[in-house]
Amino acid sequence: MSKYYTASQAAEMFNIELPDECREVDKIYPALISEYYLNLIEREDPQTDPIWQQVMPHSAELADDGMIEDGLGEVAQSPTSRLIHRYADRAVLLTTGRCATRCRFCFRKRAWRHGGELGDISDSELDDAIDYLKANNQLREVLISGGDPLMLSNRRLQTIIDKINTVQSIEVIRIASRIPVTWPQRINRELIDILSAAGNIWFLTHFNHPQEITEQSTAACQALINAGIPVLNQSVLLKGINNSAGILEELFRKLVKIKVKPHYLFHIDPVHGVWHFATGIKRGLEIMRELRPRLSSLATPIFAIDLPDGGGKVNLQPNYRTTNGFTAIDGRIIEHPGKNM
Ligand SMILES: *Cc1c(COP(=O)(O)O)cnc(C)c1O
Ligand code: SF4
Repeated sequence: MSKYYTASQAAEMFNIELPDECREVDKIYPALISEYYLNLIEREDPQTDPIWQQVMPHSAELADDGMIEDGLGEVAQSPTSRLIHRYADRAVLLTTGRCATRCRFCFRKRAWRHGGELGDISDSELDDAIDYLKANNQLREVLISGGDPLMLSNRRLQTIIDKINTVQSIEVIRIASRIPVTWPQRINRELIDILSAAGNIWFLTHFNHPQEITEQSTAACQALINAGIPVLNQSVLLKGINNSAGILEELFRKLVKIKVKPHYLFHIDPVHGVWHFATGIKRGLEIMRELRPRLSSLATPIFAIDLPDGGGKVNLQPNYRTTNGFTAIDGRIIEHPGKNM
């Protein structure tokens, strides 16, 4: 088990007075920080630290930003209480509302809003989901998500994986978990053996800043990779935390070095209470353009945004085309000799 801190305990540790507005936010979306993750705070002035900013309540979270909690329209695309089915070949299974550390920019804060927490998936909810998967044989991939699915016991995870793998059409199981970043000690031998034995698991984790790549988080990723489980990373572009080409370059390089593929970089979602982290797409594209000549394709994620109302993820690319050619990586305009370009 990990030790957890509340917002006021964490503030006390750093001799900081929590402003009243933050206490109000905390009543609705209560902070929870693992001991390990809290110890990653390096700065003398913690409020500017990238770890602190990811976990401590901010007054802007209750601002009227014109958005709703379920801004992606997940509930409307839920055929059973725990499944979200948006794309033809894949569906998300919500297994718990618990996390080892709660992120302020979480797009699924409604799963841990005070009083409305999503409990752990029950046997009957799991069976409903499995029945749906069996009845929809175009589904090939299940994303086990939450909350953080690795908050469940190894035994419970084993049951969930086994049941999903009784569905004939399912080829791949994706586990979406931030635990290698926030509580890497959870990636224990027994868990690795379960995931490895399933034979069809891909692991998607969530590093946002180079400061999160420690000996322990590296060891957790290595253990998964050495057991034959591919590990990919999804980051969120966060204003004031990682919105510079320099920080992202360092993050993506370090990830590749530990054999974790930077897969997605998401613009913040159109969800209530997180929009103060938005950089805007224009700024994100500038960063992507800046990174392209500096970073190998191995280290370069897809930049994308999830659309409101169940519209799905769309990829965002700088536009390299001009009226009669292309803008080259060094900025020159180059005409292409091919016909019908
Ligand atoms: C993100 C997401 C997926 C997976 O999409 P990929 O682009 O394959 O990563 C599937 N279903 C839902 C509802 C999602 O939000
Ligand atoms: S770990 Fe994931 S689900 Fe949990 S609070 Fe962070 S972003 Fe949200």
